[in-house]
Amino acid sequence: MDLVIQGKWALVCAASKGLGKGCAQALVREGVNVVITARGDEALQKTAAELRQINPQVQVRAVAGDIGQAPSRAQALAACPQVDILVNNAGGPPPGDFRQWDRDTWLAALDLNMLTPIELIKEVIGPMAERGFGRIINITSMSVKAPIDILGLSNGARSGLTGFVAGLSRNSEFASRNVTINNMLPGMFDTERLQKTLVQWATQSGDTLDHVIQARRRTSPAHRFGTAEEFGAVCAFLCSAHASYINGQNILLDGGAYPGSF
Ligand code: NAP
Repeated sequence: MDLVIQGKWALVCAASKGLGKGCAQALVREGVNVVITARGDEALQKTAAELRQINPQVQVRAVAGDIGQAPSRAQALAACPQVDILVNNAGGPPPGDFRQWDRDTWLAALDLNMLTPIELIKEVIGPMAERGFGRIINITSMSVKAPIDILGLSNGARSGLTGFVAGLSRNSEFASRNVTINNMLPGMFDTERLQKTLVQWATQSGDTLDHVIQARRRTSPAHRFGTAEEFGAVCAFLCSAHASYINGQNILLDGGAYPGSF
């Protein structure tokens, strides 16, 4: 299926690895020019080279920096001639006991996982509406729908973003001009982050890593983790011309792990 987004420009944040990289790969396959970001320049340049190999016809620009910092956001935006597609992503806040978190801990989580995507949306949504095309994807987490106790910072910050976006996506100033905003909620995806978490769980429980991996895989009816490639493919579809009537949705990708009917 031709997604009809060839020649568009996408800013894909936090995309040197994992889910962000999966989104960038899928968009590049569709002929979308991309600006990718991450803090570590080495992995970012390596990913940029891989993307150029996937599709030599597209432009790939890499901007190193912490997307939570205003100057890095400005650099990323400046590298993108126009942002037709924005994929908001960043690292997740650390787990822990909320009694240990002070105000600064909360502000850091809110800043990176709620206010940073809102700042970027603020910069790009007006021109998107003027051009009559815009796709905004926020990578959040299944924890928005099924909160996990030790991930309180993530539950709180991402729910704040979800609530804000639920209102904004339904503003007809943008929705009537073919600008959509959707959230993608990953369950467990086989990325570097998940691998680190699995090692942590194994160390804490004293169980073998293999046992922990098997047990976690079975928490999804699919009995496996998702892949960044399949996550990226859904992202590309949501960014396509065909998805213009999908707006304001929270798309759960968890192999059916969430047990509710809706
Ligand atoms: P990952 O494999 O660790 O990749 C994270 C990517 O984001 C890397 O490219 C990293 O590069 C970049 N990054 C992190 N913080 C950044 C920052 N402040 N500014 C710019 N780039 C930054 O992680 P992932 O599994 O793809 O997770 C992506 C998001 O999905 C996270 O928010 C995570 O909490 C959420 N999530 C993931 C899963 C899962 O199962 N994988 C489940 C639920 C939610 P640098 O470190 O070099 O910056």
